[in-house]
Amino acid sequence: MPSFPIYLMIEQQIKPLIEGKTITEIKCETYYKGRYSWHGDSLRNLDSIKNAKIVYADSKFILTDSNYIIEFSYFNGDLRYFNDVSDINIKPSKKSETDGYILTFYFDDKSCMTLVLYSWSTNFSIRENNMENMKIMPKSQIELTDDAAFTLERFRKWLSERGNMNIVENCSTAKGAFDIYNPVMNYILLISNIHPRTKTRNLSDDEIEKLYRNIKNIVDNYKTGKRICEFDDIFGNKVAPKNDVVWLNSSMLGKPCPVCGTSIDFTPCAGTKMYFCPNCQIKK
Ligand SMILES: [Zn+2]
Repeated sequence: MPSFPIYLMIEQQIKPLIEGKTITEIKCETYYKGRYSWHGDSLRNLDSIKNAKIVYADSKFILTDSNYIIEFSYFNGDLRYFNDVSDINIKPSKKSETDGYILTFYFDDKSCMTLVLYSWSTNFSIRENNMENMKIMPKSQIELTDDAAFTLERFRKWLSERGNMNIVENCSTAKGAFDIYNPVMNYILLISNIHPRTKTRNLSDDEIEKLYRNIKNIVDNYKTGKRICEFDDIFGNKVAPKNDVVWLNSSMLGKPCPVCGTSIDFTPCAGTKMYFCPNCQIKK
């Protein structure tokens, strides 16, 4: 279940490698027995995608020509790709309360993809695509990386219906429009000079537009490769960040604001802590 920008990094790697390939077999193996068994029904349609061709793939979703869709969520590093099945070298060591599974998708060119699933936060399901024209599944209310979905008009509408909520909650949390990491959203709020707990209805049209432009710009930077965030890639490598934004998380508390040098502070919000600069971001 990586959020943006990590899901985009993974998508850029996996998509060209598996789209167009045929799934010749899927194997599910239990590598760890936990106190609880896991997701009883999730694996029941495995046969429906055997010999199906992958027509669309991203970091969380696969659509096949058998009209079944596969949805999954996992931890960063637990989706892997191997050019040859004989190269498989994963050794999951995570212990959890629940069973741990390794799913292996074998493709027609001897390559394969593995998915390690454990704990309540991971998920896997195969179901019939009965949504008619539904070809891909948006990852959130407004799909950040889709230019047609993430428009200023749509963003304004989303916010106008939720004027009494804090701006950060309307963007990056479970109730928000985007599946984006809070520390990245907090950086965008910083450069937009908006306090994370500003009530959405107190923002002017210009402030909303500035926020939108900053989000869009940073999303585009990651899309084009101008920025890269640190993540565990699908080949098992740790990828180093390049021109990444400052992730405003607990490690930044008391450190200088990257814009003005004032010490970074936090405010409790949405059941967690949001980090901000008391000088750049005045609560409205
Ligand atoms: Zn500052």
